[in-house]
Amino acid sequence: MTETNAERRREAREAKYRKKKKIHKILATVLILVCVAAAITATAALLSSDTYKDEDSFQEYASEYFKEVDEEKNVGSTQEVIHFGAPLSVAMEYPVTGHKTMDAYIKGIVEDLETQFQNDNKKAAKDDKVAMLMDYDTYKTGREAVGMVLTQEKRKEVKRRMETIDSQVYAYNFSTETGRPLTAIQIFNPGYKTVCSKYMNEFFTDKYKDQLVKDYEKKLSDSEENFNNFVLTENGVRFYFDPGTVVEEEEGVVSAEISYKDLEGTIREEIAVRAIDPDKPMVALTFDDGPFPRTSNRILDCLEQYGVVATFFELGQNVAAYPDVIKREAELGMEIGSHSWSHPNLKELSAKKVKRQIDKTNKALEKACGQKATVFRPPYGNNCKAVEKYANAPIVLWSVDTLDWKSRKAKSVMKVVKGVKNLDGRVILMHSIYDSSAEAVEKMVPWLLKKGYQLVTVSELLEYKYNETPQNGKFYGYGYFYIDK
Ligand code: ZN
Repeated sequence: MTETNAERRREAREAKYRKKKKIHKILATVLILVCVAAAITATAALLSSDTYKDEDSFQEYASEYFKEVDEEKNVGSTQEVIHFGAPLSVAMEYPVTGHKTMDAYIKGIVEDLETQFQNDNKKAAKDDKVAMLMDYDTYKTGREAVGMVLTQEKRKEVKRRMETIDSQVYAYNFSTETGRPLTAIQIFNPGYKTVCSKYMNEFFTDKYKDQLVKDYEKKLSDSEENFNNFVLTENGVRFYFDPGTVVEEEEGVVSAEISYKDLEGTIREEIAVRAIDPDKPMVALTFDDGPFPRTSNRILDCLEQYGVVATFFELGQNVAAYPDVIKREAELGMEIGSHSWSHPNLKELSAKKVKRQIDKTNKALEKACGQKATVFRPPYGNNCKAVEKYANAPIVLWSVDTLDWKSRKAKSVMKVVKGVKNLDGRVILMHSIYDSSAEAVEKMVPWLLKKGYQLVTVSELLEYKYNETPQNGKFYGYGYFYIDK
């Protein structure tokens, strides 16, 4: 009885086990089928996202792209634009910030990029597939600025796969006050290039040691054009470098960020204050032959009182004697230029001596305020080949000569300035070593402001009035600074 019962129990157990095994088998089969199905679906999805054939599939293709790009969108909302076409298609996302002027600028920039893409690919064949894909990042900066980066990728169909043929990064910074794009000179004090150049040389030789291109040092030299693709982020300023300019092409666009802490003294405390309206008249006051403490400080007192800036072309020997004046100029955001070491006629010196006049002055300036000259003016306006070769800065003359050294009268200086019909775009020459010139400045600054002129540095004047990125070694002579030539 017990045995039979035990046997039955065993049989029941075995039957139960067989049944369980069968269920497991079915489950396993189902699982395999599910896996296969999933794999097929995934492969299909993968294949379909590799290219596109019509408006709907381009839409899908674009949203895949927007998903895979990893971005920071910290300001406003996103506007999406999809233009499907054959052969050219465009898919873009860009920010809408709610600031009317800023949004108008952003829309303009995005539209220009699309037009550029259409023009660049005019020759594409009807059955080609070329797509421009663009996404963006936005940053709150903790300052009076919003940072925006547009990341653009161009892809072309090759053997039924879309291949990336070009990628670009465009960085912008907008003033939250005016909504206008800000340029380097509104954000940084004039000597920022020196700081950036030093930082970037260290960064790239460390991080990309084996991938640097042959001429990378040229692209990291302290020239403004090397450091004008940058964005302000939450933590610092990120600079971008085009493929193949600093690091080998296959690395694509490379970037490096300098923290706000490391930029202390280089970045302006109040960005928006320096906003310049390019549509309004502007003039650049320039002072040669200083510094001389009594008169230079009197001029600086006046400029500081009215919250305006000017450019000082200083003599190296005076810089070495009175470094505190230079330090004050830098702190007030004045542009500091070089006027040689000892005021010789550079045309009559050997190239070697010209170089010495320039280098020695830059050393003295760096010692006084941490920056080299951002502009150069040869004594007597006498430019020459050696100056162009060694200045390492734009060479800037003037277009209004006050003859202050000759008259030594504030009244005569004012007469010259008032006698110019339109001062917009002009560079006014004075000297910072005469009491009469300082007195003239005290009359001139309020008069110019009342007339509606913005007072800017010569670099700002080039940038805003003449749409010119100041170039090292380029000569901006007497004839340059006239808008109605
Ligand atoms: Zn001079």
